Amino acid sequence: MKYYILFGPPGAGKGTHAGAIAQKYNLKHISTGELLRAEIAAGTELGRQAKALIDAGSLVPDAVVEGMIESAFDTIKGVDGFLLDGFPRNLAQAADLDKILEKRGEAVTAVIALMISDETIRTRIKGRAVIEGRADDANDETITNRIRTYHAQTEPLKEYYKAAGKYYECNGDQGTIEDNRARVLALVESIQ
Ligand code: ADP
Repeated sequence: MKYYILFGPPGAGKGTHAGAIAQKYNLKHISTGELLRAEIAAGTELGRQAKALIDAGSLVPDAVVEGMIESAFDTIKGVDGFLLDGFPRNLAQAADLDKILEKRGEAVTAVIALMISDETIRTRIKGRAVIEGRADDANDETITNRIRTYHAQTEPLKEYYKAAGKYYECNGDQGTIEDNRARVLALVESIQ
């Protein structure tokens, strides 16, 4: 099985390009953000607790997202691998993912990173707020905190995966959506 991580700051276009990558390589796309929003929409206790943290621009507890990831690995069959989007998001999650995969005799295949500037993060998220109506996209303070959370907690994963020889990066903010999609697909193809 292949285990790809789609990496990048909020608004980089991970969700926008995940479908094309997943389809081309027969992968199951798993977005922890989408799974959490589904819990919120279903009105579960987990969703209620997650909402407060998401709306503040903070991360939800590691155990919550890791439980979601393990249960996806346990139940999803008939694919050649997984495309993880929004996970791992800090070093503890990355170390735990390594352990989860090791138990299965597996390992992370590669990290596919989409990079954009902080300025682009803001414009993208604000544009998306109008289209998708996500509460965490509409508020300036939340966006600022998500950018801060990304730099403080998520960005160090670059070095973690570079050290493992698994980090591949491309630019996510030049040209049209199609240009960016072509660039990310070419990047994935180059590591096959
Ligand atoms: P974006 O990439 O635009 O930030 P996501 O849909 O990936 O959006 O995530 C939305 C929110 O869900 C995050 O800001 C965070 O609060 C929470 N979240 C998603 N994935 C994780 C994770 N792996 N660990 C902790 N919190 C997460």
